Amino acid sequence: MTQQEAEARINELRDILNQANEAYYQKADPIMSDREFDEKLRELLEIEMEFDLQTPDSPSVRIGGRPTKTFPNVQHPVPMLSLDNTYSPEELDDFDRRVKKLLGHSDFDYMVELKYDGMALRLRYEDGKLRLGATRGDGTTGDDITPNIRTIEDIPLKLADQSSGIIEVRGEAFMNIDDFARMNQQRADEGLPVFANPRNATAGTLKLQDPKIVAQRPIRYFAYDLLFEDEEPDMTQEQKLNKLEDLGLQVCEHRKACRTLEEVHRLIEKWDAERHSHPFETDGVVIKINQERYRNELGQTAKAPRWAIAYKFEAEQAVTTIDKITLQVGRLGTITPVAELDPVELAGTTVKRATLHNEDEIRRKDIRPGDQVLVEKAGEIIPQVVKVVTPEETPRGKEFTMPETCPECGSELIKLPEEVAWRCVNIECPPQVRSRIEHFASRDAMDIDGLGEQIVDQLVSENLITTYTDLYELSIKDLTPLERMGEKSAGNLINAISESKNKPFDRVLFALGIRFVGTTVARDLAGGFGNIEALVNASEEELTAIDSIGPKIAQSVRLYFDDPKNLELIERLKHHGLQLEAEKKETTSSIFEDKTFVLTGALPSLTRKQATEMIEEHGGKTTSSVSKNTDYLLAGDSAGSKLEKAQKLGVEVISEERLLEMLNSQ
Ligand SMILES: [Zn+2]
Repeated sequence: MTQQEAEARINELRDILNQANEAYYQKADPIMSDREFDEKLRELLEIEMEFDLQTPDSPSVRIGGRPTKTFPNVQHPVPMLSLDNTYSPEELDDFDRRVKKLLGHSDFDYMVELKYDGMALRLRYEDGKLRLGATRGDGTTGDDITPNIRTIEDIPLKLADQSSGIIEVRGEAFMNIDDFARMNQQRADEGLPVFANPRNATAGTLKLQDPKIVAQRPIRYFAYDLLFEDEEPDMTQEQKLNKLEDLGLQVCEHRKACRTLEEVHRLIEKWDAERHSHPFETDGVVIKINQERYRNELGQTAKAPRWAIAYKFEAEQAVTTIDKITLQVGRLGTITPVAELDPVELAGTTVKRATLHNEDEIRRKDIRPGDQVLVEKAGEIIPQVVKVVTPEETPRGKEFTMPETCPECGSELIKLPEEVAWRCVNIECPPQVRSRIEHFASRDAMDIDGLGEQIVDQLVSENLITTYTDLYELSIKDLTPLERMGEKSAGNLINAISESKNKPFDRVLFALGIRFVGTTVARDLAGGFGNIEALVNASEEELTAIDSIGPKIAQSVRLYFDDPKNLELIERLKHHGLQLEAEKKETTSSIFEDKTFVLTGALPSLTRKQATEMIEEHGGKTTSSVSKNTDYLLAGDSAGSKLEKAQKLGVEVISEERLLEMLNSQ
């Protein structure tokens, strides 16, 4: 094999493996067998080694691919059954009649709970300590994914009651819609494949082999059932949920015991109408007999209990036609194809556009202009195309091809072998310029009130600004000629821009829009380096010494500061008086000088913010993750993985009470 042949084969294998990974994780629709995957992976690894061509992004090293070994299996002592589904009020009436007939009376309540669209997990606690976390699997045997489950903050490692013997908790892992959208946006910005919906993202994440990556994903957990190993105490479902809450688990507040079926119907109607008001996705309601003894009496079929049923809300999909496919250029130059649709009503809004994610996705689904498609809302701000439903005899439009140049600025598009997205790398590309400024002004960044998308558009197209630094040179008379901009609103905007100069250093760092630098990383960089000079001069090695900074982020930060254009921007920001140095807090004492704290869990009386301020007032600092440089872990109730890590590293763990004692003893 020549060097050239090796390179060609490596590219081919990486493509196939990336596609296979995506199909397996994001689509839950594998395109090759595990065995075939492993063989290809091995071949790739061998060639990469022989020709020294391994890169950090290769599927041979990238964590987050398909499991390289399977998880240990675990038998469920009580099977994890699924529930029968109903789709209409009449079917629910049938269920009610069936139950009453079997029991011979109607002397029971129904417990009604929202149904979360996620992944079922069982937890086993022994004397209050988490010993096992497992997936449902086929209902009798699941995967033991305990290391991953220990990273979920909602799942306490220790229960509030340590004397409870062996208990089993059942519940659902899921992602909040906002968290999911943010994570997907970040993945899209990074050129990584996006997840289809929060459920797939949750399932894909929990199957990862590296708990460190799982820990970074925003997984939540609601408990909904409690089982005791020895004997089943006579508790109602309602009492169980309250008990779960007392034990320190998260239980959804949307639950209600109903005395009559009529009440159940009314509740379902109400919850159906409110289904979009929750931070998470819900696809229905679960109705269970509240009293344990009647549950036992009713028993179960081979597949599902007879005492419970799921009522599914109507699916939120609609059929419409793709008018054309356009391309959108993101802040970091990522090109996203978008379907322009015939407007259609979906989930209470009129939908005109749907994301097509990337070229591979379009090809996989064979989406073409003129197609009739099924669109769905999946927790994203804009909906997506599920599949093409054009009738077979209908003539189809032309296959979509990605242009070679940016639709906005004409620069040549590039695509890195390990990424799925095409990218415009011209930093003067107008939509990128606009979205960089919008990002700079956004709420988590400089929070400039009144500087929305439309104003930025106008400012850029009128050539009043080309970078965010230009904002600080605007005057009222620059603004007043703009559309819908009076003297007063111009004055307000100038004030808001000027006030943003007081935003702390970490906000400024985030606002710069460096790839991979989110709010947490920005805070850690600001805390770790203290000022912009130290950061500009930091080597990749010095950067990765900060716990939350990996090589990918370090490289990106270096790349940013190695560009003289960016250094010039920073000089100008400095000239305008922005905060480029971490604030030295007015300290009332220095007893925590040089001490680094990490906070975890819920503190009994202080909020995290109050505790952080208290620590800073006394000269200490706080960071987001535990490392060997951490002096104290301030741990409250339901402390998660951080507590465990601190114990492993021998970091002193203190309670709120101890913190207050330390402060009072000075
Ligand atoms: Zn461009």
